[in-house]
Amino acid sequence: MRKLFRFVDWTLTPDREPDAPPILHMYRCLGEDEDGKPCGAEGPVCEDFETAQKWPFEHIKEQQEHRSYTHVAITPWLMVPGEEPN
Ligand SMILES: [Zn+2]
Repeated sequence: MRKLFRFVDWTLTPDREPDAPPILHMYRCLGEDEDGKPCGAEGPVCEDFETAQKWPFEHIKEQQEHRSYTHVAITPWLMVPGEEPN
């Protein structure tokens, strides 16, 4: 039997439902070692943003030249149909 799919308009949207997975935060070092290799060290992935922000303070104690970081945020998103497909 051939399955027919009706055309559906989808929207990609941040998932702000109460049961959405938590937003996760992590910091990655953008510093370079003396030979020019990227450090790439990463802090822990945390639900709490302030907890994630503690890691660069730990890393800088060991690598005082590593002063650039990227904040990685993992956020839940949903695909929402304009009309429920049936
Ligand atoms: Zn580093």
